[in-house]
Amino acid sequence: MKAPVLLVVDDEPMISTLVTRVGRSLGFDTIALNDPQEILGALSHDPNVIILDLSMPGADGVEVLRVLAESRCDAAIILMSGFDRRVLTSTSRLAAQLGLTVGGILEKPLRLQNLKDLLRTQQTHARPPGAAPATPPLEELQRALTRHELELHYQPQVDLRTRRWTGVEALVRWRHPERGLLYPNSFVGMAEQNGLALALTDEVIDLALREFDPRSLGEPADLALAINLPPAALVDRGFPEQVLRRVGAAGRAVRGIRFEVTETSVAANPALALDILTRLRLKGFGLALDDYGTGHSSLELLHDLPFDELKIDLQFVRVIDCDPSARAIVASSVRLAKDLDLRVVAEGIETAKILDIVAAIGADVGQGYHIARPMPWAALGDWSHAWSGAA
Ligand code: C2E
Ligand code: MG
Ligand code: MG
Repeated sequence: MKAPVLLVVDDEPMISTLVTRVGRSLGFDTIALNDPQEILGALSHDPNVIILDLSMPGADGVEVLRVLAESRCDAAIILMSGFDRRVLTSTSRLAAQLGLTVGGILEKPLRLQNLKDLLRTQQTHARPPGAAPATPPLEELQRALTRHELELHYQPQVDLRTRRWTGVEALVRWRHPERGLLYPNSFVGMAEQNGLALALTDEVIDLALREFDPRSLGEPADLALAINLPPAALVDRGFPEQVLRRVGAAGRAVRGIRFEVTETSVAANPALALDILTRLRLKGFGLALDDYGTGHSSLELLHDLPFDELKIDLQFVRVIDCDPSARAIVASSVRLAKDLDLRVVAEGIETAKILDIVAAIGADVGQGYHIARPMPWAALGDWSHAWSGAA
């Protein structure tokens, strides 16, 4: 297999030498660039990870980020700077808004351990080398819906106090006949932009109702199931009745099914979203505000809408052990949620250390790669066995 490629962009040769040495010791092929103007040329090496110094003579980091965004670079970008942490987090936000993947931030003076930790995380989570994300044409997605090429992977959630398994989030995948397994980022947006989001949601709900059966795994029947809703569901007045019919037709109970929506989905038509979300709650479904902290995180929304769960976005949780601002945001979100009587889920628990921190802060439920990656229903039994053995 081809080694992942690490590109280091820093005008200080000492730093780039050090970083490339560490990168090589972790199995990366490395390229060092002292002149940010040459970034375009270097992209021909198809880097998986880019470490970018934010302040270099000739171009500031933001200009380089813009160039990367315009070239649709999909590498994980690690931002590095001697500026204070706030500058780094603002820049990382800017990068995310440009559509780039931020792999983390590194403060200068560089600490070797932080650098190694970040690179190791990228190694396990970056896209496999050579596997560029494929976005198939729309006709193929239409065909996928009629031919039932979609499938679900389920990611376990656990109680952070008792470590017991409490539920799963269903995450859609597309088993493409030629392209292999595709992830939501390569087709959910396309479905939403082309009027297919509700058809996709129907398919996801039907699949989940068919597969999700805690008793088949010897688990308690009250294991919870979370399903993501697209913005289109929040402007479709008939959605609550329609989904209730589906659940009834499958002979399933509403209790334990929770829908996840994001603030941006609500924003399209807040009045109609209030109508639909309230009726979903009245029918007995749970309701989570997903990706909390990434939108406007408006208090009005939390006040007005009938959520019973808040999911803190993984971008804060993932870095909570090394980023005091992220930690402050998570802690204050947890306090707010508790005061509003909402259950709090921390997404993005990638290490045991992060799990301990979010548990100490008081989040109720945890979800993340450290607990389990999303997996087919059939694999959950083995996971549960291993998890309860280790707990
Ligand atoms: P989401 O609802 O916030 O789901 C969590 C995403 O974070 C999932 O990505 C999950 O695999 C990933 N994740 C979980 N734990 C960790 C972790 O510890 N570290 C990191 N780095 N990532 C983690 P996935 O499956 O690629 O889904 C991405 C997004 O696609 C979802 O974000 C959701 O917004 C959307 N999506 C997924 N399934 C559906 C669906 O059935 N319908 C709709 N409309 N959207 C969906
Ligand atoms: Mg979700
Ligand atoms: Mg989320």
